[in-house]
Amino acid sequence: MAEGLLIVLSGPSGVGKGTVGKILAAEKEDLFFSISMTTRSPRPGEIEGINYFFVGEEEFKKKIEQGDLLEWARVYDDYYGTPKEVVLNSLKRGQDVLLEIDTQGAGMIKSNFPDGVFLFLLPPSLNQLKLRIIGRGTETEEKLNKRFNSAYQEILEAKGYDYFVVNDFPERAAQEILHIIRAEKLKMKRNAHLIEILRGDGCIQCP
Ligand code: 5GP
Repeated sequence: MAEGLLIVLSGPSGVGKGTVGKILAAEKEDLFFSISMTTRSPRPGEIEGINYFFVGEEEFKKKIEQGDLLEWARVYDDYYGTPKEVVLNSLKRGQDVLLEIDTQGAGMIKSNFPDGVFLFLLPPSLNQLKLRIIGRGTETEEKLNKRFNSAYQEILEAKGYDYFVVNDFPERAAQEILHIIRAEKLKMKRNAHLIEILRGDGCIQCP
C-alpha cells in the first residue's frame, strides 16, 4: 500500500489557516489533522485535545528530549510541536496527514520528508491581514505587534514552499488545496507501483 501524503500548511498569524482547515476537514473526511502540542495558554473557546494539547514548558522540553516530536519551534514566546508517533502511524496506514505549522517547523519537516507537499497560505494584502488579527481580538497589544512584525518576515519565507494559495475566500482557498492534493497524489513518482501492476496484467482502476 502507498504511504499517505504529508501535507504542510503554513501562513502568517491571522491568515485564516483555521477556517480553511475546517472546510478541508469537512470536505476530505479521510484527512488526518495532526493536533499540535503547545505551551501557549488556551484562547477562549479552544478545547484541549481538539485545538491543541496544552502543556507546561517542562513537559514540552521533556517531549523534545525523548524524541517524541516530529518537529518543534519556538513561535512568538511559546513552544509548538507535532507529536511524532500518531503522524507516522497514519502515514504508514496510507492516510494523508495535514500539519498546520510555522515556517521553522516546515523547514525541519522538509529535511526529513522531502516528498511532503508544502503549501503557504497568503493573505490578499498585508492590510487585510492586520485587520483580521485585530478583529480576532484575542491578543494583547504587545502580542499583536509581535505578530504583525513576524507576519511580513514569514511571508518572505513562502518562496521556499511548493505552492501558494491566496485566502481571499476560505471556501475557494480550500478547494484549491484539495485540487493540489489530488494532483500530487497522481504524480508518477508516487505511483510507479501501478506500472508494475499493469505489467503483471493486473487492474489499477477497474470499473
Ligand atoms: P497560534 O498561537 O495562532 O495558534 O499559532 C501560532 C503559530 O504557531 C502559527 O503560525 C501556527 O502555524 C504555528 N504552529 C501551530 N502548531 C505548530 C506546531 O506543531 N509546530 C510548529 N512549528 N508551529 C506550529
